[in-house]
Amino acid sequence: MKYEYSVKVDDLRTHFKVHRPHLFAEQPTVYAVDGVSFEIEPGKTFGLVGESGCGKSTTALSVLRLVEPTSGSVELNGVDICQLSENDLRNYRRHMQIIFQDPYSSMNPRTTAGEIIRTPLRILKIGTPKEQHERVEELLGLVGLRPEQKNLYPHQFSGGQRQRICVARALAPNPDFIVCDEPVSALDVAIQSQILNLLARLQQEFGLTYLFISHDMAVVQHICDEIAVMYLGRIVEKADRRSLFLDVQHPYTKALLAAVPTTDNNSKLSFVSLKGDVPSPMDPPSGCHFHTRCPMAETRCSKEIPKLRQVLPNHWVACHLV
Ligand code: SF4
Repeated sequence: MKYEYSVKVDDLRTHFKVHRPHLFAEQPTVYAVDGVSFEIEPGKTFGLVGESGCGKSTTALSVLRLVEPTSGSVELNGVDICQLSENDLRNYRRHMQIIFQDPYSSMNPRTTAGEIIRTPLRILKIGTPKEQHERVEELLGLVGLRPEQKNLYPHQFSGGQRQRICVARALAPNPDFIVCDEPVSALDVAIQSQILNLLARLQQEFGLTYLFISHDMAVVQHICDEIAVMYLGRIVEKADRRSLFLDVQHPYTKALLAAVPTTDNNSKLSFVSLKGDVPSPMDPPSGCHFHTRCPMAETRCSKEIPKLRQVLPNHWVACHLV
């Protein structure tokens, strides 16, 4: 176990220019990530949660520089990867890997499982071909598959097994930090817990640090040590798991929690329900982005941006009324 790889994201912004609606229109900007900051302790799991379109996946891709951030810094063990040249970044990639949501679309259907897992070793030039093949067999065992399954193609595996192949591929270069981008969303509930348990076991065994992206509060509660809730490119609440679920503060987080099925008829959260969709990040509402859907909104909410303030030990909230 190494447990030494910390991640520090500071004021990260990723803005995109998109096509003009017509020739004389101004070129619109999408504010996908708009000033996001968080830290992940070595060997821990930090969750980013929110509805689809809230910017959590763009944050994940920006943290790895798979999408180029507009500004801000991402320090991995003290190295700001936003300042690295293309060449240095390529060398640094062995330390940070990603597991995508849909295992089938993230693998070539005409490539065997063994070759899929070997890909990062080939690209990053790690080991001789013989060592790479030995490593593939070792990785198959680590994720609960058999060495002879390296010769099978993606369609010959179940959804859960395909995600195990993706986990093995991410583990291949022996990384320190893995971004898990909705890794269980495409799987049946019964299989989800197997993959979550696998990720937890590998974290223990190899001291991995995870950034875990999900829209599912129950999933982040299961696996994350700390959680940040995102809405339209900003973090609205951030806390350790216990504090977030026992002492939820922000109206948006309350609404997300109220949407989780529960057998508790006395749940204090059942009155909160979200209306409408997330507004466009091209034209986010003024002030608090959430004011157009917030059941508690007041006049100043549409005028002033609420700051993320500490309200409890290890618990921060961005709301004028908290
Ligand atoms: Fe709702 Fe206002 Fe708080 Fe935003 S600042 S969450 S609109 S009460």
